[in-house]
Amino acid sequence: MNTGKNEKVIIVGGGLSGPVMAMYLAQKGYNVDVYEQRADMRKQKLSAGRSINLALSKRGIRALEEVGVFKQISPFLIPMYGRKIHDANGSTRSLPYGRKGQHINSVSRSDLNKLLISEAEHTGKVRFFFNHTCTGVDIESDIIYFIDNQSEKKINVRQIPVIATDGAGSTIRKSISSQKFILEVLEPLGHAYKELTVPPDKTGDFQLDPNSLHIWPRGQFMLIALPNMDRSFTVTLFLPNNGEISFESIKTNSELVSLFKEKFPDVLSLIPDLTLDYFSNPTGHLGTVRCQPWNIKNFLLIGDAAHAVVPFFGQGMNASFEDCTVLNEMMETCEDWENLFDNFSKKRKIDGDAIADMALENYIEMRDLVNQQWFLAQKELEKKMEHQFPGQFISRYSMVSFHQIPYSVVQERGETQKKIMEWILENETSGKPITSEALEKEINLKLPVLN
Ligand SMILES: Cc1cc2nc3c(=O)[nH]c(=O)nc-3n(C[C@H](O)[C@H](O)[C@H](O)COP(=O)(O)OP(=O)(O)OC[C@H]3O[C@@H](n4cnc5c(N)ncnc54)[C@H](O)[C@@H]3O)c2cc1C
Repeated sequence: MNTGKNEKVIIVGGGLSGPVMAMYLAQKGYNVDVYEQRADMRKQKLSAGRSINLALSKRGIRALEEVGVFKQISPFLIPMYGRKIHDANGSTRSLPYGRKGQHINSVSRSDLNKLLISEAEHTGKVRFFFNHTCTGVDIESDIIYFIDNQSEKKINVRQIPVIATDGAGSTIRKSISSQKFILEVLEPLGHAYKELTVPPDKTGDFQLDPNSLHIWPRGQFMLIALPNMDRSFTVTLFLPNNGEISFESIKTNSELVSLFKEKFPDVLSLIPDLTLDYFSNPTGHLGTVRCQPWNIKNFLLIGDAAHAVVPFFGQGMNASFEDCTVLNEMMETCEDWENLFDNFSKKRKIDGDAIADMALENYIEMRDLVNQQWFLAQKELEKKMEHQFPGQFISRYSMVSFHQIPYSVVQERGETQKKIMEWILENETSGKPITSEALEKEINLKLPVLN
C-alpha cells in the first residue's frame, strides 16, 4: 500500500486497542481521528478501590514495544510467575506458568488506557474526540453517525477508511450486521462475575503473594485474584447466573457470607468490605462474540468488536493488540484499504475463533481441572516433554502467553500434544510404556519444529 501521505483514518473506540492502532497508523504517516463515547478518563476521578487489572503477556507486549510505549508502562507491571491454587482445606500449591523466569504481568486497565491515549496524542498525528457516541454507519455512503453527548448534537462524518474498536457491544458491528453485510453470533457463557477487593494489610503490604495469580477453584465456580500497584488485589468471583450456587441464589448478606465461610474460608478475613463490594459493584456478563466476516468495503472491526472472548486465558486485550500488529504488517503487502481489510479478516478470523475456543476451555481448567490428579499428572509430563523436545513440544499455555505462534496453530498443536500425552499416560498405566524411539518418531511426525 502507498502508506501515509497525511491521509485520514477514522477509529471508533478509544479503549485499549483504538489508541494502539492509531499509533501504528501515525508511525506510517496517517492522521487519525479517534471517536470515544466516554469522557476523557485522564480528567475523571476513579472511585477508590476500583482498580481493575488485566494480565498482559507476549503478544500485547510486542505491540506496545512496536508503538514505543512499553518502556513507559513497564514500571507499573507486576510479574506473576504462576498460578497459586488455594484448596478448600486452606492449603496452597503453586503451578508455574512456564520455564523459570517466564511470567505474565498484572497491569491496571485504567493506567494503561490513559497512557495509551496520551502517547497517541504525543505523536502529533492522533486527535481524540471524547463524548462522541457512534450510533451507526451507512456503508453505501461512507457515513459514520455520532451524537455529541454534551451538546446532544448529531454529527455525521463522511470519511473512510473506518476501523471499529468499539468493544464487545460494538455499535458498528450491530449496525453492519443489521444491514446484513456481516453475520454476528453472540454466545452467552451463562456465568457472570463480580469484582471485590483485598486491601493492603495494616502495614500497607500485600496480604497474598503478589507474584502469583491466585485461584480458588471450586468446580462450577471460582475466585481469582490479581495484584495491584497499591498492594491491594482485585478479586473476581465467577459464578453461574442461575442454579444452587449462583448470582441468582446469593441475594442477602448472610447468603454471601455463608458462601465464603463454606467455600472460601481463607479469603473471608481478607475482604473487609465483602458485602459492600458484592452488593454495590455491578455484575459483569460474559460471553463470546463471533462474526463473519470482520469487514465490509472500507470498514473493519478489530479487537473485542470482532472477537470478544471470555477472560479465562487472559488474552482478550493481548489478542486485540495483536490484531493491530498483524494489520500494520499486512499494510506493507496489500494494494488498498478494501484489499487490506479483506485479507486481514480472512487471515485473522481463524485465529480469533481459536482463542475464543481455548478461552472457554480454560475456564474449566481453572475452576475444576487444576483439582484433578490426572490433569496434574499431565502437567508434570508436559514439563518433561518440553525439556525433551525443545522447539517442538511447547505447552499450550506457553504457546499462547509467551510466544506469537498464530492462535489457530496453537489450537491445532495443543490438540496433537494432548493426544500424545494421553497415549503416553495410557500406555504407562497399562504397564507397556512407550519406547523413546517410538515417542521420538511420533513427535517428529506430528509436531514439526517451530520457527
Ligand atoms: C473481567 C474481565 C477480565 C479480563 N481480563 C483480561 C486479561 O487479563 N488479559 C487480557 O488480555 N484481556 C482481558 N480481558 C479482555 C479485555 O478487557 C478486552 O479484550 C479488551 O479491553 C479489548 O479491547 P478493545 O479496545 O477491543 O475494547 P475496549 O477496551 O472495551 O474498548 C472499547 C472502547 O470503545 C468505546 N465505545 C463503545 N461503544 C462506543 C460507541 N458507540 N461510540 C464510541 N465509542 C464507543 C468504549 O467506551 C471503550 O472505550 C478481560 C475482560 C474482562 C471482562
